[in-house]
Amino acid sequence: MSRLVIDQIPVLTDNYVYLAHDPDSGATAAIDPAVAPPVLERLDAKGWRLTHILNTHHHNDHVGGNLALKQATGAQIVGHRKDSARIPGIDIEVADGDSFLLGTAAAMVMEVSGHTIGHIAFWFPASHALFCGDTLFALGCGRLFEGSGEQMWGSLKKFRPLPDDTLVYCAHEYTEANARFARTVERHNQDLTDRIAEIKELRQHHKPTVPSTLGIERKTNPFLRADVESVKAGVGLPPEADPAQVFTEIRRRKDVF
Ligand code: ZN
Ligand code: FE
Repeated sequence: MSRLVIDQIPVLTDNYVYLAHDPDSGATAAIDPAVAPPVLERLDAKGWRLTHILNTHHHNDHVGGNLALKQATGAQIVGHRKDSARIPGIDIEVADGDSFLLGTAAAMVMEVSGHTIGHIAFWFPASHALFCGDTLFALGCGRLFEGSGEQMWGSLKKFRPLPDDTLVYCAHEYTEANARFARTVERHNQDLTDRIAEIKELRQHHKPTVPSTLGIERKTNPFLRADVESVKAGVGLPPEADPAQVFTEIRRRKDVF
């Protein structure tokens, strides 16, 4: 079993669609295809045949290409059972804790609701790859459209035990704006200072800041750090404040930032 080959396609204003290709079986998945044409072009350039579409949640900038890709390639569409009415063309319904096989590559399905209800992530441990949609972003997290702060904090905590070298393939390039906000929460975090310098450098050269790693997110992403004292203090809350409440306050501040 070899490692997945992962290809990143920037689409729309700031979305990333990913192709994950298993060289052993030839199986190829598109993760959250917002649109179809650039995905078909990339498949063509790579000489890959699309076998699956993996959807993290129902928003149109994640499922917009589903039906056109299915029609063009016959790919099977995978999504959360709870979201089956909102995921166009769904064929395979999965739920928290299920494993899903992309050829020979096994993914664990993790329910991480909050941005939407029924939001899932696909974790491929052998490939060190986490496709987390709009739950975790580089230095940020998704807005709470359908779930509560407490629920989102619970979801983000599920990611924290994953290995440091896990590559975080999130669905948007929001990192620069997230960095400006993160700075207001933790002014004295040296890891964050270093990371912001790297992000500026990358964006000046129009390079992606995604994927990041879970190790660096744990050290710098305020939304994964709601139980850290300096973060609590950074949003004006005392050391004994409940982390879910701290998370909710960080999210509220980001919404109006
Ligand atoms: Zn979304
Ligand atoms: Fe999105």
